[in-house]
Amino acid sequence: MNRNRLAVPFKQDDNALDEVARRFDVRITPAVLETIQSPADPVALQYLPDIRELDISPEERDDPIGDHVHSPVKGIVHRHRGRVLLKASSVCAVNCRFCFRKNMLGAPAATLNWKEMDAALSYIAQHPEISEVILTGGDPLVLSSKRLDYLLGRLEQMDHVKIMRIHSRVPVAAPERLNTTFLELLNRKKPLYMVLHVNHVQEITPEVEKALFALHKSGVVLLSQSVLLKGVNNNTMALENLFSRLLELRVKPYYLHHPDLVPGTGHFRLAIEEGQKLMRALRSRVSGLALPNYVLDIPGGYGKIPLENAYIEKSENGFVLTDHEGVSHDYPCV
Ligand SMILES: *Cc1c(COP(=O)(O)O)cnc(C)c1O
Ligand code: SF4
Repeated sequence: MNRNRLAVPFKQDDNALDEVARRFDVRITPAVLETIQSPADPVALQYLPDIRELDISPEERDDPIGDHVHSPVKGIVHRHRGRVLLKASSVCAVNCRFCFRKNMLGAPAATLNWKEMDAALSYIAQHPEISEVILTGGDPLVLSSKRLDYLLGRLEQMDHVKIMRIHSRVPVAAPERLNTTFLELLNRKKPLYMVLHVNHVQEITPEVEKALFALHKSGVVLLSQSVLLKGVNNNTMALENLFSRLLELRVKPYYLHHPDLVPGTGHFRLAIEEGQKLMRALRSRVSGLALPNYVLDIPGGYGKIPLENAYIEKSENGFVLTDHEGVSHDYPCV
């Protein structure tokens, strides 16, 4: 990309920026570039390198969510009994500066070759307790059509796999990929759920809307996940606009992730209390259908937990319940 055009108004040190870009490639698609209006807008901040990425604090870690702890075979993360992650690609259409898998991203060795893919599929075939396979990465939709078709086909042949799920940023970052042939490939016999990664309503262009509608018509069930990011979407209006727009486009907001402890992403992180407060405000402002679960991955591989238990507290003879305006109500024990 033409970094000069976008980075100059930042007045950041060019050598330092080169260093940042060496550590984690700058990658942005023409479709995303078009949505950027200024170097400090909510889209630009997600993709443009920033010298603050060089500030690494001691609590940040290379494997922030503990993927490695639960990886029995290359490309597989099996943390929960009935569902696995299958990370076939280590490449994305874009590189988000806050990426939770920043350290695996773009490493060619982390993308599965055909043999490794077969080994990962064998693992799933040999584990009848697995009923859901989540293709993630990297981005599974940057795989060649041939590979993706092969993967989905093999999963469909396994009787115990009932649900297939794809986590992707492609419908937002490169909607042109969802052409007729590609959509045919996604039209499967088994239920295919797709969780889009989208963080701000500015990312949803008419092309993106078209792609989402086409996915819907192909029988793909659409959900979304967003990362709560300081400077990008940490205000009620931004979240309200995003979630209600998604709902209108037949996309059910599923997860709002509290940012993980990824090296060099401190400038994106905010307090958990702030996230809880935003969620509380949203509860009265948007349809319940538009509300995602606000979650955090416990570092070390212990899984995701909801961060919204601030509504209920044990009291002497029951519970104290807090409503969306912060008012407490007593609730008796049965
Ligand atoms: C997030 C995640 C899942 C999926 O969790 P859901 O709550 O079903 O969306 C599965 N396995 C791992 C290792 C995960 O990190
Ligand atoms: S799309 Fe997801 S995996 Fe890819 S760079 Fe962004 S956050 Fe990371």
